[in-house]
Amino acid sequence: MTVNHLVPAGVPETPALTELRHEVRAFLNSRIADGSLTPRVDAWITGWDPDFSRELAARGWVGMTVPAAYGGHGRTFVERFVVTEELLAAGAPVAAHWVADRQAAPSLLRFGTEEQKQHYLPRIAAGECFFAIGMSEPDSGSDLASVRTRARRVDGGWSVTGTKVWTSGAHAAEAFFVLARTSPLDTSARHAGLSQLIVELRSDGVQVRPIVSMTGQHHFNEVHLDDVFVPDARVLGDVGAGWHQVTSELAYERSGPERFLSTFPLFRAQVRRAAAQPEGTPADPAIGRALARLRGLHHMSMAVNAAVERGDRADTAAAVVKVLGTSFEGDLVEAAQLGGGLPDSDPLLAAGLLQRPGFTLRGGTSEILRGVIARGMGLR
Ligand SMILES: Cc1cc2nc3c(=O)[nH]c(=O)nc-3n(C[C@H](O)[C@H](O)[C@H](O)COP(=O)(O)OP(=O)(O)OC[C@H]3O[C@@H](n4cnc5c(N)ncnc54)[C@H](O)[C@@H]3O)c2cc1C
Repeated sequence: MTVNHLVPAGVPETPALTELRHEVRAFLNSRIADGSLTPRVDAWITGWDPDFSRELAARGWVGMTVPAAYGGHGRTFVERFVVTEELLAAGAPVAAHWVADRQAAPSLLRFGTEEQKQHYLPRIAAGECFFAIGMSEPDSGSDLASVRTRARRVDGGWSVTGTKVWTSGAHAAEAFFVLARTSPLDTSARHAGLSQLIVELRSDGVQVRPIVSMTGQHHFNEVHLDDVFVPDARVLGDVGAGWHQVTSELAYERSGPERFLSTFPLFRAQVRRAAAQPEGTPADPAIGRALARLRGLHHMSMAVNAAVERGDRADTAAAVVKVLGTSFEGDLVEAAQLGGGLPDSDPLLAAGLLQRPGFTLRGGTSEILRGVIARGMGLR
């Protein structure tokens, strides 16, 4: 059994990275101090604020890894990692540009046509174009190959019909990547015949219905597609290569700091509360344990980002980060509730309690990821 790809080499934080980190942190602290930014839990899903996204873009912190030729900043994945870590730790409202920046831009760079890159990337980097992900369906979540949304060949493109669900941000995004069946299901090759289509959410035949979560917030949706025309120019990559394209992005989607920092603002509130206790109050060992886990996750996640940058395989390591990271962010909620001394009505704790069930589901459930890890280790 080879384990090299399971444990990507760690990367040190260079002085330049630390300087960038401090620059972002100073900006966020100033916004918190002047009251224009209120830290929140799970802000990368629930904190939709296009003005804030545009402000970050103006500072060069959106589309960081997009080449300058497409309006981006030509920086490294590790630099982007440092910036996103600071944004998440501060609980900043980054949901509007999150999918476009994390997923759409790299996918367009890798699989998109020149026209698609020119059309979308400069506006993504400017915080002007937001994306959503149309993978899950009412009967197709973990078993994504069973998607039923179908695209029928018509003159000049495809006619798409089906229903996507849990589509975060679809009500406010410009477009979404739809995984659709472009050839009939072949049960002996279920992953074949799938394609990725870029569907404009304001197209004729698209209906976006809100799904209100337990928090009372509307951040995800059910999206009905009824004979929606998608021109050939909006096929992403190759027809029939959808499965390969979707799975090749997973390392990236699963390993980022959003998989362990969703509840960090709650942890910070707990630490501040502990620090304010009278001298002589016994230290809370749960805080030390959490910090140690956090440090480990930071290093693992950064190592996966560096591996992605080098073009190394990192899907198994990414799955490890997601399983450990999402259980950690849930454990922080439990620790804050049981031993943190915060009332259940504390807004960060209340949001953490209600958002928590989603942490280990979104982006692949822990049960499924444990299977990915076992296969990656050659155990299944
Ligand atoms: C907050 C949030 C945001 C989301 N945003 C998006 C989005 O923007 N776009 C999008 O496409 N999707 C989105 N999703 C959907 C998410 O990807 C799915 O919820 C996830 O893939 C699981 O699919 P499912 O809900 O259909 O559950 P199911 O696949 O039905 O699974 C139900 C349970 O059965 C278990 N299970 C299933 N199969 C197996 C197996 N083979 N072995 C062991 N256990 C198994 C699962 O682990 C889970 O516990 C979002 C979800 C959440 C919670």
